[in-house]
Amino acid sequence: MATTVEVLTAKSVPLGGPRAMTVHRALPQRQRSFIGAWCFIDHFGPDDVSQTGGMDVAPHPHTGLQTVTWLFEGTIMHDDAGDVHEVVRPGTINLMTAGAGTCHSEVSTQATTTLHGVQLWTVLPEEHRFTQRRFDSYTPPNISLLNDAGSARVFLGSLLDEDSPVPTFSPLVGAEFTLAPGAQATWDINPEFEHGIIADTNDLIVEGTRLYSSDVGYTGVGETSISVKNESDAPGRFLFIGGAPLREDIIMWWNLIGRSHEEVVRWREEWENHSERFGVTEGYVSKRADGLARLPAPPMPTTRLKPRKNPEPIARKIRTRA
Ligand code: MN
Repeated sequence: MATTVEVLTAKSVPLGGPRAMTVHRALPQRQRSFIGAWCFIDHFGPDDVSQTGGMDVAPHPHTGLQTVTWLFEGTIMHDDAGDVHEVVRPGTINLMTAGAGTCHSEVSTQATTTLHGVQLWTVLPEEHRFTQRRFDSYTPPNISLLNDAGSARVFLGSLLDEDSPVPTFSPLVGAEFTLAPGAQATWDINPEFEHGIIADTNDLIVEGTRLYSSDVGYTGVGETSISVKNESDAPGRFLFIGGAPLREDIIMWWNLIGRSHEEVVRWREEWENHSERFGVTEGYVSKRADGLARLPAPPMPTTRLKPRKNPEPIARKIRTRA
């Protein structure tokens, strides 16, 4: 019997303000908040930078999470409070661990004509959420899949007999797959993990369920293999992510992840007051003449922040909408 696949459809969100590029956000959403510790999925592009101006996100804070940037095309300048100044390139994972607090800016480079990729976040579990800020990058080998089906790059965790050296704070996996037109790939997966297929291209058939670009096909724990077919007549591409179910009460608000309303209120005030918690991002230059030097926090909602709900790590036969 085919594995049940729950489809999470993305909503369109302007990144960093109304004049900015549009991203497609599949997580978090009402019906599902996490896939393992993965808690945020933005898929963007291919975006014609001459039309949209590309990515220009001024320095902003993060707590209690890691950001993963993975590009298919274009380059992004990443500057952060750990004195990291890196050009993010296709095929290289850039992972920033915020820990107790950091801040960063992200700007597509002058040389970029098309920007295309994903940004993901992972939740740092309770025992590691106040770790020191750090930054890791890794360029995985492009390995061939069986039967000339295509290739894969394992950027996080272990899969297909490959191991990424990038440190994680909970059990996680992440990989990019490229499938030839009409090709099908089947591979072994960890049955203790829940997983997501983030579709970059259209007409990817995951265990009989069709995905379109920006959809996420979710599978629950207990599965030992997964099969994806590229039904289009062009190369197909997707990211495969997964992890052990996160069983913690998480508060996500703006760019901050905490465990209580009071914690988030305090951190918001600390950002507004230029607290040392977040450090300082040097090197950011806005593309816009009227660009901000750093992003102000939005006002707190008038109600108390509540922990995000997450259903059991078992796929339901539904297409959810973000
Ligand atoms: Mn960020």
